[in-house]
Amino acid sequence: MKNMTATQTKQSKTSKAMELLEEGISNLLQSGDWRQYLQVQSQFHNYSFNNIVLIVLQYPKASRVAGYRKWQELGRQVKKGSKAIKILAPLTKKIEKENDNGEKQKINALVGFRTVNVFDVSQTEGEELPAISSSVLNGDDQGLLERLKAFSLDNKVPVKFEGILGGANGCCRYDTTTGNPIEITVDPLLPPLHQAKTLAHEIAHSLLHSRKQYDSHIPRSMAELEAESTAFLILKHFGLDSGDYSFPYVACWQEGEDAIANLRQAGTRLQKAANQVIDWVESHSNSD
Ligand SMILES: [Zn+2]
Repeated sequence: MKNMTATQTKQSKTSKAMELLEEGISNLLQSGDWRQYLQVQSQFHNYSFNNIVLIVLQYPKASRVAGYRKWQELGRQVKKGSKAIKILAPLTKKIEKENDNGEKQKINALVGFRTVNVFDVSQTEGEELPAISSSVLNGDDQGLLERLKAFSLDNKVPVKFEGILGGANGCCRYDTTTGNPIEITVDPLLPPLHQAKTLAHEIAHSLLHSRKQYDSHIPRSMAELEAESTAFLILKHFGLDSGDYSFPYVACWQEGEDAIANLRQAGTRLQKAANQVIDWVESHSNSD
């Protein structure tokens, strides 16, 4: 494989990828294919929203991607003639900047993007890969429910389990003065998996829609899209699938909306929220 280092080709390649990205977002939403998008996203937990769209667009069947060298490290070789999947990596530069105390600090500043080649596992051959699962929950939904409960308590939004007036599965209660979330309720009569899904959904609300600046700017359709998509990502990461409930739920709320604009707005936020919960759960899974 040749290294593509010429500076003049870098610019045009990146803008091409950006165009591809726009197109990818449109296509995904026009086809209503949230399932595909969310499933891929849950597998590529560490990739940015933009790169996930690029991966899906160029290689719809992608299940696990890595760079050429990374595959070699894993004992696998990229098959001859495989077409690289192009994603974007940030270009950073060390610059000196004064902080608030007038001290000079070296920080990494974003100066642009460059194109990076990655390949799907199906484009490689070699040693068997270890199981992808990084979770210690082994698909046990009850385990996740407890950990989500612990996360929310740590996040200062305690969870209680009781029936909800009006028959909702869950709700997130806010302080009327501060606008901050203060309590989540989940219906304990739901099956455990559904309780975990519902709790993840309400946690997403508490993370994404609590702060005052969002209160009047996020319409309900957007808030539900974000909360349910985030819940799906969290569960999927731990080996639980809520798709049969989550996809129709999101699609329902998005009816008649400018879905493309919504997706572009939501992508990074919902991934960030999911990651916050996933990272917390994973880092608190070994100690107790
Ligand atoms: Zn909701």
